[in-house]
Amino acid sequence: MDRSKGLGRLASESLWDFLIIGGGATGLGAALDAASRGHRVVLIDSLDFASGTSSRSTKLVHGGVRYLKQGNLSLVRGALRERGLLLKNAPHLVKPLSFIIPSRHWPERTYFASGLKFYDWLAGGLGIHKTRSISQSEAIASIPCLKSEKLYGGF
Ligand SMILES: Cc1cc2nc3c(=O)[nH]c(=O)nc-3n(C[C@H](O)[C@H](O)[C@H](O)COP(=O)(O)OP(=O)(O)OC[C@H]3O[C@@H](n4cnc5c(N)ncnc54)[C@H](O)[C@@H]3O)c2cc1C
Repeated sequence: MDRSKGLGRLASESLWDFLIIGGGATGLGAALDAASRGHRVVLIDSLDFASGTSSRSTKLVHGGVRYLKQGNLSLVRGALRERGLLLKNAPHLVKPLSFIIPSRHWPERTYFASGLKFYDWLAGGLGIHKTRSISQSEAIASIPCLKSEKLYGGF
């Protein structure tokens, strides 16, 4: 990207289809979408592109699992749908990443087992890998710094 070239084009051309203010993930995504549909797009930022909140992101695609606890099913379903579509449409950008949730006693294990099963079910045809339970030794082999005391295993 050449700043002076961009400013020169902005000064010499007067007709644009879109002016997008803010070059974070939202603005950049909108600009890319519009430009890829053949529109003439100007994207401006008061500081620098991706200098705001977008520079802090862990870049994980939101799957919405924590909203399950709040009973916000429409949000969870929407997040799972977006996640699935991103995996389908942009496999060059998005790839599955495993997580381990440790469980320390039976009630917690039952709680996670049923919640995550339901979560997998909500994802429907756009689901990725199914949640599976793992033993204490498998959990520790994957996360060696995990405290083994009262550790039952994980998911
Ligand atoms: C620590 C952290 C971790 C996160 N992790 C994740 C994650 O794993 N997954 C996830 O999906 N989300 C995550 N998020 C949330 C995600 O980063 C934000 O939702 C996203 O970056 C917001 O993008 P945005 O384009 O709306 O805003 P921003 O990235 O803040 O972009 C706004 C841009 O607008 C510019 N601007 C503002 N006012 C003006 C103006 N008047 N004129 C011109 N330009 C202006 C700013 O300079 C900035 O560049 C995380 C957030 C944080 C803080």
